[in-house]
Amino acid sequence: MQSPVDERRPQSFERVLSSMCTEPHPAARRAAERFLATNPGDPATYETIADLEREAVGALAEITGLADAEGAVESDVSSHGYVTTGGTESNVQAVRSARERADADDPVVVVPESAHFSFHKAASVLDVRLRTVPTDDDGRADADAVAAALDDDAALVVAVAGSTEYGRVDPIPAMADLAVDAGVPLHVDAAWGGFYLPFSGHDWDFGVDGVSTVTIDPHKVGRAAVPAGGLLARDRAALDALAVETPYLETTAQASLTGTRSGAGVASAVAALSALWPDGYREEYERADELAAWFADELRGRVDRVVDPELPLVAFDLAPGAFTALRELGWRLSRTGSGEARVVLMPHVTRESLAAFLDDLDEIR
Ligand SMILES: *Cc1c(COP(=O)(O)O)cnc(C)c1O
Repeated sequence: MQSPVDERRPQSFERVLSSMCTEPHPAARRAAERFLATNPGDPATYETIADLEREAVGALAEITGLADAEGAVESDVSSHGYVTTGGTESNVQAVRSARERADADDPVVVVPESAHFSFHKAASVLDVRLRTVPTDDDGRADADAVAAALDDDAALVVAVAGSTEYGRVDPIPAMADLAVDAGVPLHVDAAWGGFYLPFSGHDWDFGVDGVSTVTIDPHKVGRAAVPAGGLLARDRAALDALAVETPYLETTAQASLTGTRSGAGVASAVAALSALWPDGYREEYERADELAAWFADELRGRVDRVVDPELPLVAFDLAPGAFTALRELGWRLSRTGSGEARVVLMPHVTRESLAAFLDDLDEIR
């Protein structure tokens, strides 16, 4: 019997403008298929994928500056992280690690209001409190507000490097100084931004003293297949704090949140990273950065307000009627919490597709 799946097709990416997922790199797609039936959660049985995971973490350690960072250089950085299911698991685990290591009875996580909703999930499952601090007029965490929020209960400070709504990068060196003074770790969420930031000139990574853990998702701009996220820690103790004993496995401890995990995600991450780091990612950053500037300029003549892009993400005012009409024409658009439309310049988004979008916008305006 023919399966109902055979008759279906996944969506085309041609009109997908707000997603942070994209077409995987061809080598990543092949690798995912080959390693589909492997489980890096059981490294003593699935040794090849376990080796590949160490390679993935080693590459992510280079991208996040951990390979050169003080304290890490002495140690084998390929054991300073693991391939998660995505930014959500990485952020949950970063909060969990901080909670396990904190002294506070009632641990508090200080997050800017621009932080991803995964921190709300983390707070809910881990029974920690979020203390949300405002962002400035331009959407970045306000360092003074962070300073004011740090007290004896603080267990972690979160900084966003590429916010989901506006692509903003928080003042990470200033926030790291505050965290160090307070004796609290700083977690950087670069789930989306992490593959642009090595080329954009920002200070965001383990090169900044005080950055303890970093989230970076190969399955977004990294062009690995879903699911492939990354969690990295400067100090192995941050990962050890996550380990539980595993009585019926050959290995004795497991730090990941999930048990059985996707070898497809791990293998595809290695394939994408080795195909694209660093030149392919640099070229993609330059392409997307230029495209964002062009698109923002084109929009300025057409809509009331365009938020100046920092990383390749453009948010702009769009009347509700126009938003709905564009959705009906097949454009996959979403809105920020404040109602702006947002276009994420992912690898599949081209000048041609944006020109077609602008034509449709002109037509309905
Ligand atoms: C996408 C995103 C996440 C969540 O990642 P998933 O892979 O969707 O779980 C977390 N933080 C930021 C900044 C993101 O952009």
